[in-house]
Amino acid sequence: MNRRNYQRELETIIEDAGAKGQVPSLFLHSCCAPCSSYVLEYLSQYFSITLFYYNPNIYPPEEYEKRVEEQERLIRDQPHLHPVKFLAGTYEPQRFFAAAKGHEKDKEGGERCFRCYELRLREAAKAAAKGGYDYFTTTLSISPLKNAEKLNEIGEAVAAEYKVAYLPSDFKKKGGYQRSVELSKEYGLYRQNYCGCVYSRDMLDTPGHL
Ligand code: SF4
Repeated sequence: MNRRNYQRELETIIEDAGAKGQVPSLFLHSCCAPCSSYVLEYLSQYFSITLFYYNPNIYPPEEYEKRVEEQERLIRDQPHLHPVKFLAGTYEPQRFFAAAKGHEKDKEGGERCFRCYELRLREAAKAAAKGGYDYFTTTLSISPLKNAEKLNEIGEAVAAEYKVAYLPSDFKKKGGYQRSVELSKEYGLYRQNYCGCVYSRDMLDTPGHL
């Protein structure tokens, strides 16, 4: 079976909207300022974006606060062709712990992470449908540690459930991850050394952890 090229699919949607002179609205779930830096730089040329910060996985609460502040600071400081608005989700870590139950010891990239993706994408799809946005997607695929196929599969499944269009994407393509590292330096962004949850933080001490 041919693997899908999510970047190419995204480019086709952008080209089609451009040919019609449209600037679609995009509800963009973001995991953190560094990952969103490239995605905002790229997509704000073509979409009117509302960035949604919903990450109940992040631990501890002080780390969550720090990441939210950096996210808002980036939106303020970075120039965008089309406006970028910010919407904070609710911090509800109990939902993440419930979703991760039984998978606390999984390695990063396993079933716990798929549940974590779904929790965040589901909330984004629900809010995007309620807000009447043209599309929703997530910045998560920019990370070399994140499974783009799984993210797009989950994104499309929850999109169908809530009747909202999912924007296919794999932001690590076209040097996206490298550009996010450059932009993080340029804006002096706080770059955390663990994915977000308590398990990924504690695994930093595990030999062989990336
Ligand atoms: S490692 Fe990252 S993606 Fe996986 S469960 Fe933890 S916070 Fe979520």
